[in-house]
Amino acid sequence: MVGSLTSNKIAYFSMEIGIRNDMHTYSGGLGVLAGDTIRSSADLSVPMVAVTLVSRKGYLRQKLTASGEQQEFPDEWDPSKLLDLAPKTVEVNLDKRVVKVQAWIYEHKSTIGGTVPIYFLDTDVAGNDPADRAITNTLYASDDAYRIKQEAVLGVAGTRLLDALGYKISKYHMNEGHAALLALELLQRYEYDVDKVRRRCVFTTHTPIEAAFDKWPYTLIEPILGREFPVQIIKELGGEDKLNMTQLAFNLSGFQNGVTKAHTKYSMKLFPHYSIRAITNGVHSNTWTSQSFHKIFDEYIPGWASEPELLVRIDKVPYCDIWNAHNVNKENLAGFVKEKTGVEMDPECLTFGFARRATGYKRAALVLSDINRLREVNKKYPLQFVFAGKAHTKDTSGKDAIKEIFWRKEELKDEMKIVYLENYDMDIASKLVSGVDVWLNTPFPPMEASGTSGMKAAHNGVVNFSVLDGWWIEGCIEGVTGWGIGPSPEEEVEEAERRKRELDDLYNKLKYIIAPKFYEDKDSWIRLMKGSIGKVAYYFNTHRMMRRYITDAYLG
Ligand SMILES: *Cc1c(COP(=O)(O)O)cnc(C)c1O
Repeated sequence: MVGSLTSNKIAYFSMEIGIRNDMHTYSGGLGVLAGDTIRSSADLSVPMVAVTLVSRKGYLRQKLTASGEQQEFPDEWDPSKLLDLAPKTVEVNLDKRVVKVQAWIYEHKSTIGGTVPIYFLDTDVAGNDPADRAITNTLYASDDAYRIKQEAVLGVAGTRLLDALGYKISKYHMNEGHAALLALELLQRYEYDVDKVRRRCVFTTHTPIEAAFDKWPYTLIEPILGREFPVQIIKELGGEDKLNMTQLAFNLSGFQNGVTKAHTKYSMKLFPHYSIRAITNGVHSNTWTSQSFHKIFDEYIPGWASEPELLVRIDKVPYCDIWNAHNVNKENLAGFVKEKTGVEMDPECLTFGFARRATGYKRAALVLSDINRLREVNKKYPLQFVFAGKAHTKDTSGKDAIKEIFWRKEELKDEMKIVYLENYDMDIASKLVSGVDVWLNTPFPPMEASGTSGMKAAHNGVVNFSVLDGWWIEGCIEGVTGWGIGPSPEEEVEEAERRKRELDDLYNKLKYIIAPKFYEDKDSWIRLMKGSIGKVAYYFNTHRMMRRYITDAYLG
C-alpha cells in the first residue's frame, strides 16, 4: 500500500507539538509526545511531515501568588524570528467567510538520520477578518466555536496545504481526535468512499474516558463547517446528537491504537466495534537523558542514543559513576530552585518530584494529604518535594490542587522543604525528571491513559513510585524498577477500599522501604536506579514506539 517509503510521506497531524522550548506550541504530555515522535522519526529517517498550529499566544504563562492562586498571561512567541513562511497558502470556509491560512516551516534535522519538516498553520494573514486572524492564537482556548475553527484549520487547511506544497501522502496519522476533520477532507476528495479514506488514515486515541472527548453541538458545527461539508454526512460518521471527534476518527481510520495496553482495553469498552491496537508511548532517549548520564552511557554503552534498547546493558556501568552522575543533576536542580524560589534544597535529602499538567485526576497533593503520617516518616528520614504544573484557565480542580499544595507547604514549612516551580515547561521538566531521587505519580485510575514523565525520569536513573495506571502497569516490577501505589487495576476492589490502600501503600512504602533504602543501603538504591534505566528506559522510548508505528500502522 505504502509503495516506496522514500517518495510517499507519513503526515503527522497534532494540535500541539513541543519541539523547542522557545516555541510555545504545546501544553503538556500530548505535545511533548508529538515532539518526541518527530525526533525519533528524524533519527530513524522515517519520511514524515508534521502539521500543527502556530499558537502565537501559546497555551498560558503561569504565575502563582503567595497563596498559590494561579495567574495567567498570554505566552507569546514570534514565529517570524525563528521560521520561514511556506511558499503556498490555502483557504478554508469557516462561518460564512473565507479564511486564508499560511504556514511557518521548521525543519527538525537529526544529526544521525533525516529531516522532518513541521508546518505551523497560521491565520494571522492580511485580508482575513480580524476575528479570523486570531484563530491560531491560543492553544485550547475555552470557547467551543473557536476550538472548532482551530480544528478545521488543523485538519482541513492542513491537508490542503500539504497538497498545495506537492506532498504525496501515503498515511495521515491523527494524533488525538482534534485532527479528525482531515478525514472529512479526504472523504470529499475520494467522493465519499469511506474505505478509501480508511486505508489512508491512522488514529491514535489518548483519552480513556468518554467525558473528555471533544464533542461539538451541531448548532455550532452547521454554521461553521456547513459550507465545507454536508452536515448529514458528518452526523452519520461523528454522531447524531453531537459531533464526537473521537468517534469520527475511529470511523474514518483503518488502524487505531491506544497509548498503553490498559488504555487500549478501556478504549475497546467504549468502542467495542473496533479492533484497537496498543502501541505504548515512549520518550526520545537522547533528548531526555541529562548530560551527566549521556557521558556515562557514551562511555560504557556506545550507540545507546540511536538504539536505546542497548540500555539493557546498564550493568556495565559502575555503581559510583551512576551515583556521581545523579548527584550532578541533583545539584543542578538545587541551583535552579534556589535561583527561582530562593529556597536552598538539601542535596543529601531524599527528594521527590511531581510535575505535570495540574488537573484534578492527577491528585498532585495526595502525598501531602495525611500530614501526620508524612511527619512521622520525615522525623526519621528527611524528605523534600518539588512540584510544578499549569492548570488550564477553566480547570478549577487543577487550580485547587495547586492551592492545596501551597497550603500544605505553609503548614509544614518548619519541617520540610516543599517548593512549587512556576510555569512548568520542557526545560523545567528536564531539570526535574533528572534532579530528584523519586518520581511520583498518583493519578486516579483509569484516568492516566499513559503518562510519559516517568519514562523521562527512568532515563536518568530516577526511580518511579506511582499508582498502577497508564504506562506504569507495564513498567513496574515491584522493588526492581520502582514501586506501585494501590491495588492493581485487575483487582476487584471497592472504590473506598482502593483509596485507603493507595494511602497505606504511599506512606508505608515511603516509611519502611523507600526512605530506609535511600538512607541506609545505597548499593541497593543504585541497583534500583539501574533497574529503572535497564528495564524501563531501554523499552519506554519513542525509537521502539516509532518502529511499532512503522511496521503495524504505516506499512499496513
Ligand atoms: C513530559 C511532559 C509532560 C507529560 O507529563 P505526564 O507526567 O506524562 O503527564 C507534561 N508537560 C511537560 C512540560 C513535559 O515535559
